[in-house]
Amino acid sequence: MLDRTTHRNRRRERPVVVGFRMSKAKHDELIDLLVPFMQEAQPTAFAWEGPGRHALRQRLCLKGWRWSHADMEASAVVHGALDVVGAKRPLWIEGQMGYCESGFLRDEHCWNCGSPLPEQRKKFCSNHCRFVASQSLHGYQLAG
Ligand SMILES: [Zn+2]
Repeated sequence: MLDRTTHRNRRRERPVVVGFRMSKAKHDELIDLLVPFMQEAQPTAFAWEGPGRHALRQRLCLKGWRWSHADMEASAVVHGALDVVGAKRPLWIEGQMGYCESGFLRDEHCWNCGSPLPEQRKKFCSNHCRFVASQSLHGYQLAG
């Protein structure tokens, strides 16, 4: 059985690499390794951004890199791979509820289904849409 003291001492014995930089060749090799995954990722290449960064950081940490240096290097590799596949991050506003290409639907449209609002309604076109929206956590906050 592993006791805490032994485990802690083992961790301290591991050499920590300080100020380590990855070679350009290794950096490019890792980008080439990530690119096929990002090309197949669904719904977008960004689906592999987190897992790819985590996996690279983990491997670098196990090789003795400090967490912060490993994270920066992993981030650079992942962003390099995203550039190679031509991934374009959406604008913040494009990810907001009710956004459409020409702007926000909220002022004149139902917050649930997007249909035009009757004059006497402010957020939802019907009680059904209010109920459906209230079933999700975010919708519950809106319907409240
Ligand atoms: Zn509606």
